[in-house]
Order: sequence, then structure tokens, then C-alpha cells
Amino acid sequence: MELDLLCPHCQHRNECQLHFPLENPVLCEACEKPLFDHGSEGFRIEGQLDQCPLCGAEHLYRQRDFNRALGIGLVVVGALLAPFSYGISLILLALLDWLIYRSVDEVACCYQCGTLFRAFPTIAKVEPFNLQIYDYYRNLKSN
Ligand SMILES: [Zn+2]
Ligand SMILES: [Zn+2]
Repeated sequence: MELDLLCPHCQHRNECQLHFPLENPVLCEACEKPLFDHGSEGFRIEGQLDQCPLCGAEHLYRQRDFNRALGIGLVVVGALLAPFSYGISLILLALLDWLIYRSVDEVACCYQCGTLFRAFPTIAKVEPFNLQIYDYYRNLKSN
């Protein structure tokens, strides 16, 4: 199971692989403070996503792993558009986009801190993206 997160203490970006149950506290690789101050017991034991282990928000959403898809997509787009940019390449791009979209796994993401959870067995239980909840957290941040 894999996490892509910003440390809540120093904002350093960490990508960590976790194996449950967690025996030792997971520390930020930059400031060495514990990352999962809000990890519930269920999270520590088997990686349950009942709340965000980093910021304690109770809401997470599920989506395709767009960041990864975009990364792959852009490389391909760059290569394709270099020599020609006629209509045909656009159709190919759309097809390619669709293929990439289909091949990308789902991830869970925290509304509040944006942490990404990859390859957790519990992702299927997380609710799909909800704009109202997203707006709620965005308003919290701007206040
Ligand atoms: Zn840190
Ligand atoms: Zn969070």
C-alpha cells in the first residue's frame, strides 16, 4: 500500500510504502516527526480509511488515479504532436486518453489535505467524489 502525502509538519513530500499492521510510527523523511497523528486503530491494524490518518478529516473520496494517468498521457501527447498536429492525432489522443483512463487504478484522496492512498484494499468502500463536501473543505481552508 502506497501513500503520496505532504508532511503536516514541514510540507515535505513523502511517498511511502506501508505494510499493515504498522508496528512503528511512520516518520517524515525530512523532519522525522510522526506522520499519522490521526491514524485510527483500524488504520494502524489493517489500513482502514475511516478517516484521514494525517489530518483527521472524516471525508475521503475515490477517483481514478488521474495524476499518474496525466503523467503517462503527457509524455505520449508530446511525442505524438511533435511531427504533426492534424485531426487524426486528436482522434488518436482521445482514444489513448480513454485507454489510459481504463488502465488506471482507483485511489482514495483526502478532501482536506490531498493525501493519496494507492492500492489500499479499502478504497472500494470510500465514497466517490462529492462537490458539496469538496466545497465545504475549501471554505474551511479559506476562512
Ligand atoms: Zn516533515
Ligand atoms: Zn487529510
